[in-house]
Amino acid sequence: SALGDLISADEPTFSFEFFPPRTEAGQRSLLRAIRRIEALTPSFVSVTYGAGGSSRDRTVEVTKRIAAETTLRPVAHLTAVGHSVAELRHIIGQYADAGIRDVLVLRGDPPGSPRGPWTPHPQGFDYAHQLVSLVRGLGDFSVGVAAFPECHPRSPDRDSDIRHFVAKCRAGADYAITQMFFHVEDYLRFRDRVEAAGCETPIIPEIMPATDVRQIRRFSELSDAAFPEDLAHRLEAARQDPGTAHRIGVEYATGMALRLLAEGAPGLHYITLNRSDAAADIHRNVMSSRSSDVLSGHR
Ligand code: FAD
Repeated sequence: SALGDLISADEPTFSFEFFPPRTEAGQRSLLRAIRRIEALTPSFVSVTYGAGGSSRDRTVEVTKRIAAETTLRPVAHLTAVGHSVAELRHIIGQYADAGIRDVLVLRGDPPGSPRGPWTPHPQGFDYAHQLVSLVRGLGDFSVGVAAFPECHPRSPDRDSDIRHFVAKCRAGADYAITQMFFHVEDYLRFRDRVEAAGCETPIIPEIMPATDVRQIRRFSELSDAAFPEDLAHRLEAARQDPGTAHRIGVEYATGMALRLLAEGAPGLHYITLNRSDAAADIHRNVMSSRSSDVLSGHR
């Protein structure tokens, strides 16, 4: 069935995100992670597109392999940055030829300095909504887009951020996936504002397992996601004890995930960083808590 319908259905979707590795060793750990995630029968998995438009061939190759060699449903991320419209058409054609009909459409950031000035390709696009329209026009694709609960860092204010997000959805998005965030309220406020603007596109929250404090600080600086200080302190204190840090991060993310589902989130999208352990542990916690809720009639 179409991915948009699956995400709009009553049961929440569960999905996992991978990135296309550069090295042989990276390929092997990706394959191991994919096999473990496959056993969890997720609704779909997604494959990112390298920063600055750098990984075209690797993203296409990994996505095609997942489609051909596993039972998983791959969603290919595609960014507009650095590509002409003709190149974008060609990439979309490659997916169509491989029977892949699910694309997560993004604008991307400028190569080198993600916060630097945006310079469009002379024959390319300025904003993600243009690529949404292109993909829509090229065939029977399901299209996802990005959402920023804490406001996109380039947006001058929240009103324009919401307005442009809603316009991007209206250009033909079936669903959105958020940037990582660590406070459930940020997601709820964003969703409520989008709904108040008359937009019902389902918005799937992204779950980042916070088990390594230094890595998380780097990511949340890059994405402007506010990181809870008490969680940072607890992870900092467990720096020499990876087992404890893992447990703290998994517990925090499980709590967020359960609250998000209770608040009506249409699914959960887990970042794996090509390792399966933390994301799989959170997923298993969420599933067992949900099934015990069903047994005890809390639904
Ligand atoms: P847009 O929707 O185009 O928005 C960018 C900015 O322009 C926003 O401030 C918006 O408000 C503004 N804007 C939009 N339309 C207009 C308009 N008409 N007039 C004026 N302003 C406007 N990056 C990668 O390189 N590879 C990936 O695989 C990748 N995957 C991602 C997955 C998710 C779930 C998320 C949340 C992000 C991902 N990114 C990825 C990062 C993304 O490319 C960047 O965050 C990028 O800066 C924004 O992309 P966008 O599609 O939201 O852009």
